[in-house]
Amino acid sequence: MSGSLFDEMKRYVGFGPTEEQHLREVAPLLRPHFTAVVTTFYHRIEEHPDALAVIAGGAEQVERLKRTLERWLDEFFTGPWVEAYYENRARIGRMHVRIGLPQHYNFTAMNVIRGELNEIVAQLTDDPAIACQRVEAIDRLLDLELAIMLHTYKEDYAQQLQRRERLATFGEMTSTIAHELRNPLGVIDSSVYLLRGAVGEDARGLRHLEKIRGQVARANRIITSLLDIVRDRPPSRMHSTPGDLAERAAADVLERRGFAVEVAVAEGLPQVLVDPEQMHQVLVNLLDNAVDASGDRGRVRLSARAAGHGVEMVVNDDGPGVEDAVRARLFEPLVTTKDTGVGLGLALCRKVVEAHGGTLRLIDGEALPGAAFAVWLKPA
Ligand code: ADP
Repeated sequence: MSGSLFDEMKRYVGFGPTEEQHLREVAPLLRPHFTAVVTTFYHRIEEHPDALAVIAGGAEQVERLKRTLERWLDEFFTGPWVEAYYENRARIGRMHVRIGLPQHYNFTAMNVIRGELNEIVAQLTDDPAIACQRVEAIDRLLDLELAIMLHTYKEDYAQQLQRRERLATFGEMTSTIAHELRNPLGVIDSSVYLLRGAVGEDARGLRHLEKIRGQVARANRIITSLLDIVRDRPPSRMHSTPGDLAERAAADVLERRGFAVEVAVAEGLPQVLVDPEQMHQVLVNLLDNAVDASGDRGRVRLSARAAGHGVEMVVNDDGPGVEDAVRARLFEPLVTTKDTGVGLGLALCRKVVEAHGGTLRLIDGEALPGAAFAVWLKPA
């Protein structure tokens, strides 16, 4: 399907062997200038905070992206402009969708590249007629690049719609079932209370009643989380300090689970504008997962540092890392690998963080070898 689509796109813009030949010829002339083109490209991004905000990983990520763009330019001029090229470019487009790059930046950013390349070609080609043909070939392939990117946004849009429909059905069913379950659970709870008197001092009977109460409480907690996911509770935001949020979450885990989380907060971080209760719940959920993964004797780190123009809070552990089987659907409701898990924690965390205009991602390359979850928040 995509093969014929790419061929159709090429036919439409008129990109064929002649254009390919022009690109190959101009490639060695342009290659020494790629770094300059990339530098101009990222200068422009730095002037636009909304574009820069998408690059959550800060200066390090910008360096990586610069190298990727140089490779992108190299492939642009050397091809081969076949099916694998299309797939490769579509992958980059999907990455843009995943990191939430607003679509209009594809066009404006491509315009920066177009302007730079055209100017250099004009300067380096003596014959104006050939310069024109080269510029034309570049223009056509850049238009193809845009067409591919647009197509990936369309694919993603269809998927998002499907996901939203699934979630809406899930939401309706969930809230009906959850409400229906509250009543019988309430009855069980009050009956247990009454039975306590009847059981008297019988240790075995009391133990079983305690078990029932524990499980009823657990079922109620699950219902609350389900309803939290389904309902929209807009955050009531206050100025908060990342350090305070981190310390409070770590104290909570210490009190409930007797586990000492290592907290590392960078100096001079900006404040964030968050609902402190909701954000506390996010951090505690992530920390609880990390403690589950690392075991009683393991290590869990909660760090806060500057990233992009905001703050990134990272929960990292030395457990086995996220299993491949759940990686792709990690943030969807009801995905769990734990015997007693429900698989709502991460779905709820992501929902809350996104309601704050932030992002929650699984990241690589942290100090401890297990999983690392990064909550990125805008500055206040
Ligand atoms: P639950 O904790 O009920 O399973 P979550 O949504 O919080 O639900 O987590 C979903 C799944 O993600 C977990 O069952 C586990 O497989 C994986 N996961 C979450 N955090 C970690 C972690 N720190 N290390 C390894 N796997 C994790």
